[in-house]
Amino acid sequence: MSRSLPPRPLRPATLLVRGGTMRSDQDETSEALFLTSGFVYDSAEQAEATFNGTATHFQYSRFGNPTVAMLEQRLAALEGAEACRLTATGMAAVHAAMLSHLKAGDRVVASRALFGSCHWIVSTLLPRYGIESEFVDGADLAQWDRALSKPTALVLLETPSNPMLEMVDLPAVAALAHRAGAIVVVDNVFATPLLQKPLALGADVVVYSCTKHMDGQGRVLGGAVLGSKTWVEEVLQPFTRNTGPAISPFNAWVVLKGLETLSLRVEAMCRGAAAIADALAGRKEVARVLYPFRADHPQQALARRQMAGGGTLVTFELKPGPGDARAEGAKAAAFRFCNALRLIDISNNLGDSKSMVTHPATTTHMRIGAEERARLGITDGTIRLSVGLEDVADLIEDLDEALAAAGQAR
Ligand SMILES: *Cc1c(COP(=O)(O)O)cnc(C)c1O
Repeated sequence: MSRSLPPRPLRPATLLVRGGTMRSDQDETSEALFLTSGFVYDSAEQAEATFNGTATHFQYSRFGNPTVAMLEQRLAALEGAEACRLTATGMAAVHAAMLSHLKAGDRVVASRALFGSCHWIVSTLLPRYGIESEFVDGADLAQWDRALSKPTALVLLETPSNPMLEMVDLPAVAALAHRAGAIVVVDNVFATPLLQKPLALGADVVVYSCTKHMDGQGRVLGGAVLGSKTWVEEVLQPFTRNTGPAISPFNAWVVLKGLETLSLRVEAMCRGAAAIADALAGRKEVARVLYPFRADHPQQALARRQMAGGGTLVTFELKPGPGDARAEGAKAAAFRFCNALRLIDISNNLGDSKSMVTHPATTTHMRIGAEERARLGITDGTIRLSVGLEDVADLIEDLDEALAAAGQAR
């Protein structure tokens, strides 16, 4: 059976359930899991035609696979991108998007507030291959302007950023990047494809870790790269086919089914995050709260221009407790807080149905060093909370109890 979707534009929730579905000749309801590494040909002639490009047929799951193709098409439809390729992890997606495009002698400009491994690629890996890189403060357009006054091949940025939820003005940076000859690659993990559309705001390539909200239940790793058909087929695809960061069809299938509830989950998580941000702001143990849609976020206007919701993460800063040693800052209070939580998990993951906190200074942002942390505004009292799907009232009660512990004298 081969009914096709109606030709009119479909809304995101519909695309998340229906987009990219390819029924096999068994007419199954749920998307089939093609757990196969290879494919067979009817004849030597069909094999020849497949390899010389005159026939369309799957060849090998490093190149393509029907379950993987369904997820690629669903994500492309949701993003409004011409094409998508999946990878085994979010980092493989970032790495492939960059290395497929760059060569020795090129220059890269990136926002400083990047996911740890993205920071390592830009600061440590690229220079090894003769690719120059420069970091700028993502919120400062004057720094982007200066850095992009020289010819540049690629711009990498994350907005909102991890963990300080800092925004980058996408249309403004895209205009500066294009003037310098660069493509703009946006890591859109924190916003999800539902809250922010980087391609419509001037970006050329969007990357995701499917590990986060798309799976959303902590089961599998995955990554996605989206862009124009020409770039994906001519620049990215030769790189991914020949270097082999392919996603397992099983993992692609888990993410594909995860997407069916993405809009419901992200909506509920945003609602929870906004309520929790307000509750935290009223507590005496909390020095400040960062949530993109709150009136006290320094870039609230930009966030509201660029995003359809405030996101599923809240970052906040704890004050030191009355008995805490000055030199230690708020680390002891932050640890008392984390250890006193009974519902919310301590984990560096995010976008999960289970709420999680992390203390960036001693975990995800430990390796970048104190000086770089200070530049990013990460203190020893900074806590990042990924809001899940539990009842918000239960989460607020858990947070209240843990804050009381954080504020106690030792
Ligand atoms: C998790 C994450 C990545 C990396 O994704 P993996 O699937 O863990 O490889 C990249 N960027 C951001 C913003 C992330 O949160």
